[in-house]
Amino acid sequence: MRPLSEKVAGIAPSATIEISNRAKKMQREGIDVISLSIGEPDFDTPKHIKDACIDALNRGETHYAPSNGIPELLSAVSDKITKENKFPSKPEQVIVTCGAKDAIYEGMEAVLNPGDEVLLLTPAWVSYEPCVQMAGGKIVKHAVNQKTFQLDDSILERVNARTKMIVVNSPSNPSGAVFDKKSMKIVADLCQDFDLYAMSDEIYEKMVYGKEHISLAAIGDMAERTITINGFSKAYAMTGWRLGYAVAPLKIIKEMSKVQQHSVSQATTFAMWGAVAALKGDQRCVEEMRAEFDRRRKFVISELNLMGYTTAPADGAFYAFVEVAGDDMAIATKWLEEGHVAATPGSAFYAPGWIRLSYATSMEKLKEAMGRIRKVGGK
Ligand code: PMP
Repeated sequence: MRPLSEKVAGIAPSATIEISNRAKKMQREGIDVISLSIGEPDFDTPKHIKDACIDALNRGETHYAPSNGIPELLSAVSDKITKENKFPSKPEQVIVTCGAKDAIYEGMEAVLNPGDEVLLLTPAWVSYEPCVQMAGGKIVKHAVNQKTFQLDDSILERVNARTKMIVVNSPSNPSGAVFDKKSMKIVADLCQDFDLYAMSDEIYEKMVYGKEHISLAAIGDMAERTITINGFSKAYAMTGWRLGYAVAPLKIIKEMSKVQQHSVSQATTFAMWGAVAALKGDQRCVEEMRAEFDRRRKFVISELNLMGYTTAPADGAFYAFVEVAGDDMAIATKWLEEGHVAATPGSAFYAPGWIRLSYATSMEKLKEAMGRIRKVGGK
């Protein structure tokens, strides 16, 4: 038979999912594996959000909705962005997508032409590169400072005539770093000086600990060239709802809209009503989850440091990024096979020598996991 798509064949499967599948297989075999490998809050979706979705189902919100999203959600997002993220946005500049991942994919399709280069700051989350590749582009990696996890002017060396876009993810998955004003300003200046687009993935914006979250689009006139990505998975514990969004200049949203219309059509109608309740309802649930993540973060980081490991700043998201100073793949395999703790090797994030642990699991499990790591791999 004739060969399948070369474009898709060149894309690596998600390493984070692969490790978690291995852990799940061991669990099915009866082994008590603690999984710290997947980025998912262990909390249930808050009740008022579920109730709003159930109400929507009961009143028959089971039909097609406008492709970009129900007007109530588009307004709720643009109000939130203008108020919290401090850059002006109109409802027509919002597109609601099937998870933030879908927004990233549509954004890449909207902006890139074959051969365009996208600057990716590493360590970086696993799905940006495949989304760039599927859109015909190519990533150019640039490592942030390995101690501060901030950006400096050395990024300039990566820019050439083919550079079209830069991806920023603060707070970062996997490092947990939060970009300060100086790093953000470097990105903004770069975009302005070289006429680049930016994609700013702010999905972890609510999980910051003692630092300020800065939206790239709020700097200077960056809103004119930035696709801001966000969603409901992390802030409201809604991973399974598959709801995300992008806020961008109208000309970009129009292109993303075409991709959406001809692929998934729209996000699920009744689920969008849950999202309206999430944004418009009481935000105490968000703070309660953040405070619990903070408690776990302090515990995990101090345990790892006590074992002798250096960790990345851990100012945001829900990941501890641990420098293992060795073969991260071999060490993660040892932690899984001997310690029964699943963690993700940094190589998956272009950061060999590091391992990512998600602390979005219960304190009891984290305590047990730290004990196991100490036994098999503690320094
Ligand atoms: N961006 C980052 C940095 C993420 O970690 C994730 C989820 N792991 C996503 C986007 C995708 O989130 P969603 O569930 O909304 O597709």
